[in-house]
Amino acid sequence: MSIQKTVSSSLNEKAGISQPEITNLDAIEQIKKSRKKQPSAKELIDGILNGNTIALSRAITLIESTNTDHQEKANEVINGCLPHANQSIRIGITGVPGVGKSTFIEAFGKHLTSLGKKVAVLAVDPSSTISHGSILGDKTRMEELVKDSNAFIRPSASGETLGGVARKTRETITLCEACGFDIILIETVGVGQSETAVHSMVDFFLLLKIAGAGDELQGIKRGIMEMADAVVINKADGDNIKKANLAKMEFDRALHLFPKKKSGWIPTASTCSSLNKEGIDSVWQTISDYVELVHSNHYFEEKRKEQNLFWMMETIDEQLKKHFYNQPKIIELLESTKNEVQDNAISPFAAAKILLDNYFKNKE
Ligand code: GDP
Repeated sequence: MSIQKTVSSSLNEKAGISQPEITNLDAIEQIKKSRKKQPSAKELIDGILNGNTIALSRAITLIESTNTDHQEKANEVINGCLPHANQSIRIGITGVPGVGKSTFIEAFGKHLTSLGKKVAVLAVDPSSTISHGSILGDKTRMEELVKDSNAFIRPSASGETLGGVARKTRETITLCEACGFDIILIETVGVGQSETAVHSMVDFFLLLKIAGAGDELQGIKRGIMEMADAVVINKADGDNIKKANLAKMEFDRALHLFPKKKSGWIPTASTCSSLNKEGIDSVWQTISDYVELVHSNHYFEEKRKEQNLFWMMETIDEQLKKHFYNQPKIIELLESTKNEVQDNAISPFAAAKILLDNYFKNKE
């Protein structure tokens, strides 16, 4: 807005119209008013509990902010929402770029809203910091869902570390649940470490694949396969149907070879066409069957409790590291010690000890 005003002021000046003072005063008044209008933590909590998605978006912006005041307010909002959260099914969706994640989420999300569900779509994409814009959870890639009043789409938070992005997403889940969203879809890209982070914040983990030329089981990290509760072969349409069915059979066989899951669930493979909206309902049926099983054997609550502890420990780890590496003395000492370690002048362990001793001494 300020840029617009500056541009229009300079255009006015060029055109001989002089009104820059009034424009600036106007702008200042507007900024003052909008600052005053910042809702309190209580107003945000009330809004969220009433299903207001504007309040939800504003609160998420606070979570994502690096400003300490914002972070304090965000914590207040999260604490206020916590007693009303936890009542959703959290589903992680992963797959390499181009596999059809957005198309699938659009079709799946629409199917869920047609069943009367409220669906929130979040994304975990630490690379968005580098690429200056998220490639995941992009609203323009989910045209129908974005217009659906029972859907809420939020692109990935940006952050320096995966840990930071993941923590923000996890806090966002709490707010979405308190706002009445009963299905939370969390999209992540099938490369790197982000699947592990997403896996540790969801109830069900879905791996989206496409059929290749007989090489279905190659190039997939074993770890990701092991995490999957279902493998869905997308783009099972047109000439691709036969290949997709073959891939499904191969995955079915491979999934049975993995050690039995603590949940008691045997992962399944299926096919779908997100483009033609075929096979989408059976994915939901699979997830419903899973949820029924893990509610009956109490694994659902057990896993969530484990995840809560995991995120507490992760956050402590992350904050400790951040504090350590941000100490000016440590930054300086680390630089000089690095060379000595590389040149074998000092052992890595002795160097680490010197740095840690220095950190703890200065803490006291
Ligand atoms: P993402 O990068 O994993 O999110 O993939 P997109 O959803 O952007 O899809 C990548 C391309 O695959 C797009 O051109 C889609 O139209 C296409 N696509 C996605 N799902 C299907 C499908 O079920 N069948 C076919 N034939 N194409 C699909």
